[in-house]
Amino acid sequence: MKLILLGPPGAGKGTQAKLLAERLEIPQIATGDILRAAVKQGTPMGLKAKGFMDAGSLVPDEVVVGIVRERLQQVDCARGFILDGFPRTVAQAEALKEMLASLGKNLNAVISLEVDNEALVRRLTGRRTCQECGRGFHVDFDPPKTDGTCDACGGELYQRDDDREETIRRRLEVYTDQTQPLMPAGITLTP
Ligand code: ADP
Ligand code: ZN
Repeated sequence: MKLILLGPPGAGKGTQAKLLAERLEIPQIATGDILRAAVKQGTPMGLKAKGFMDAGSLVPDEVVVGIVRERLQQVDCARGFILDGFPRTVAQAEALKEMLASLGKNLNAVISLEVDNEALVRRLTGRRTCQECGRGFHVDFDPPKTDGTCDACGGELYQRDDDREETIRRRLEVYTDQTQPLMPAGITLTP
C-alpha cells in the first residue's frame, strides 16, 4: 500500500500515519521527523534546515526531495510506505511523480485531513512529545499521568521549538500558500 497523508500542521498526520504503519506493516516516512533527527545530530543537512524550521518556513525542495528519493529506495519500502508531510509544494509533488514513475510504483490513495485553524492552534500550542519513544500528548486534551513524563516509557516530554504561537501562525500560512494548492485543481496525486 502506497499512501500520502496531506493536511495542515496539527491535523494529526503523524498520529494517523503511525497507526496505519503498524496496521499495514509498512514504514512511515515523515520528512519532519527525518529533518529533526538531522538537526539533533548536527549533520550538514540539519544545520541547513534548522533556520527554516525554526522560522516556520519550508526547507528547500532539493533537500527534502533528496531525503525522500533515498528513503524510497530502501528495501523496507518494497511493500509500500506512508508519506507523512511530503509533498508540501507543487515542485515536490512533481518530483514525487517522477520518482514513483521511475521506480515503477503507483499510489493507492491520498488522504487529506482537514481541521479548522483555531483548533489547529489549540492543538499545536499544547502538544508535547516523548523524547524517547516519540509518543504524542496534549496538556489539556490528552495529558500524561505525570506532568512532563511519558506514560508509555517514562521518557521526558518536550515541546517542539516551532510549536510557539507566532511560528504556528506562520506554518499555517505557509500551508495555505504552498501546500493547499496541491489539493483540488493543482497536481493530481491520485492513482
Ligand atoms: P507539521 O506538519 O506539524 O508542520 P512536520 O514535522 O511535518 O510538522 O514539519 C516540521 C517542519 O519541517 C516544517 O515546518 C518544515 O520546516 C520542515 N518540513 C517537513 N517536511 C517538509 C517538506 N516536505 N518540505 C519542506 N519542509 C518540510
Ligand atoms: Zn515515551
